[in-house]
Amino acid sequence: MTTATAMRIPEPPTTPSAGRVYNFSAGPACMPESVLLQLREELMDMHGTGIGLLEQSHRASTYDRILAESFESVRACAGLGDDWEVLFLPGGSMQHFSLIAMNFVPKDGWVAFADTGLWSHKGEKETACVRATKKTFDGATCRFDHVPADSEIADCAGAAYFCYCSNNTVEGTQFARPPRVAAPLVCDATSDIFSRPYDLAAHELIFCSGQKNLGASGITMVLARKSWLERADRSLPPLLSYSNFAKTESRPNTPPTFGVRVIGLMAKWTHDFGGPAAFGPRNKAKAAHIYAAIDRSGGFYRPSMRGDCRSDMSISFQLPSDALVDRFVEESEREGLCGLRGHREWGGIRACVYNAFPAKGCELLAEFMDGFAKKNG
Ligand code: PMP
Repeated sequence: MTTATAMRIPEPPTTPSAGRVYNFSAGPACMPESVLLQLREELMDMHGTGIGLLEQSHRASTYDRILAESFESVRACAGLGDDWEVLFLPGGSMQHFSLIAMNFVPKDGWVAFADTGLWSHKGEKETACVRATKKTFDGATCRFDHVPADSEIADCAGAAYFCYCSNNTVEGTQFARPPRVAAPLVCDATSDIFSRPYDLAAHELIFCSGQKNLGASGITMVLARKSWLERADRSLPPLLSYSNFAKTESRPNTPPTFGVRVIGLMAKWTHDFGGPAAFGPRNKAKAAHIYAAIDRSGGFYRPSMRGDCRSDMSISFQLPSDALVDRFVEESEREGLCGLRGHREWGGIRACVYNAFPAKGCELLAEFMDGFAKKNG
């Protein structure tokens, strides 16, 4: 066997099965069909117990196994060593902006923020409810058209941490690598976790909602360096305390058992298909179909982000008028290309092409875009 053959990684399916459509939704987003089918079976009977996934006690041995599998799959997919903790917490990532601050910032401390888009903007506001914040990069000044180079970020020395969003789901910009600043790094990776190799070790804590590359909404996965967790404020109410979640294996009370299972299956699916290292080039190639259609449209499709910051997960662009946006959405839906309307606060069109989004859908969207621009340009 040659090395190339030995290293060949299987490709995920590239088309949805009959009756399903290409779902470009930003989140909750499309999931691998194999995971959905497995969940369908498990809902009725989990591991031959005669009890469905949603009906399992979180203290039963079946749930012990579910939890262990989810931890293991996430660890394998992220390539985490023993110095990292994995936590599963109820609720979306939005509430973690304030929770992280309560856990890790002394009352007189402050948090440095890169405001690079809607979610980091909201995140800064949430954080400011509990601790002082300072925008060390304000994307509003450049209409969020790029993420900052290190040299554009103001001095963070003295901050408890620097918080940034690796992929701006609404505006369609993405950091190529973690910023290098004089403060510990905390990252909201909700819309690009496991989508490419990324320097996790540069961070102290990474958090992300399910609902995109991890499947179910209403749950957050936190990856935290153990030495950082040790510094968490232990006087917080236990259900707000990260160290308590670590101590109780993410079940201080009844946990979101379904979401934990879905994250585990999604992480396993990602790992089985080669993990972030294999998905990185795949996602780049998928997104390239759509960016090529934008670039050859002669200005008909108008991306608001700079070319060097284009996201491989969230592809966002404007059209010459709102009426054309409506027509684009209507006609693309008729072709089975669904969920393309941009965020309500940003407008335009947005194609989210997370790990589970089939490659063929990106080719079909690019073809549709060529035809639409020709007809309406
Ligand atoms: N951060 C980013 C980057 C997001 O894309 C989103 C949701 N789209 C959120 C945070 C908020 O997630 P949730 O609604 O699960 O709290």
